[in-house]
Amino acid sequence: MNQRESDTSLIPSIQERLSTLYSKLSSLPLEESIIISKGEMTPLQRMIRIILSQNTNDKLALKAFQNLEELSGGDLVNLLQFPEERIREAIAISGMKTQKARTILRVIENRDLLLRVRDMEPSEALRSLMEIPGIGPKSARVFLSFQYGMPFFPVDTHIFRVINRLGWFGKFSSPEKLSQFIESAELPAEKLKRLHVMIIRFGRDICKAKNPRCSLCPLSSECEYYRKSAELSQA
Ligand code: SF4
Repeated sequence: MNQRESDTSLIPSIQERLSTLYSKLSSLPLEESIIISKGEMTPLQRMIRIILSQNTNDKLALKAFQNLEELSGGDLVNLLQFPEERIREAIAISGMKTQKARTILRVIENRDLLLRVRDMEPSEALRSLMEIPGIGPKSARVFLSFQYGMPFFPVDTHIFRVINRLGWFGKFSSPEKLSQFIESAELPAEKLKRLHVMIIRFGRDICKAKNPRCSLCPLSSECEYYRKSAELSQA
């Protein structure tokens, strides 16, 4: 573990840094919202959308979800009546169909838990959801943050890349470590959620995995990746 990942004496500076990030990203005209943040959903709808959104884009995840709704006749619980193969076919467009179909069926079987976690302490709710086979820390955090407004900070591939490139808190060995570190700053749940969405959009539009658009970036003067790239190009 990076030593700074657990250094709580850094809390004031974490909060300051996150506030800076929040205000600078708020000023950018970034792409549309992300699929899991849109609109009202039942807990089961939300969790299935989260599963379908893994490793694909919003458009394909939405199409897969619509296929499931159609197959189920409008009540997703009816999917339990179908062989797993039918679920796989319906969601194939979103990729990872075998793993996703299995997880979706386990989630439907455990649908009562999706309601019960609302009344648990956040840490207990997180642990409980992760006992559903196929539900990892990121999916559980996204669900609890977006469905019930709990103070979690899910980290996807975009967030992991952006924060590590900035280098403000050192380098993190895993998305889970980064989630725990940001959550240790104890920001309000709503701010954590908005920051999560903004960094994902920023990672998609500007701080892209290949060829980041640093010339458009309001964080370039404070970015370790940018500074090192500039030093290398001058060497
Ligand atoms: S300066 Fe470049 S690498 Fe750094 S955060 Fe901005 S876009 Fe990403």
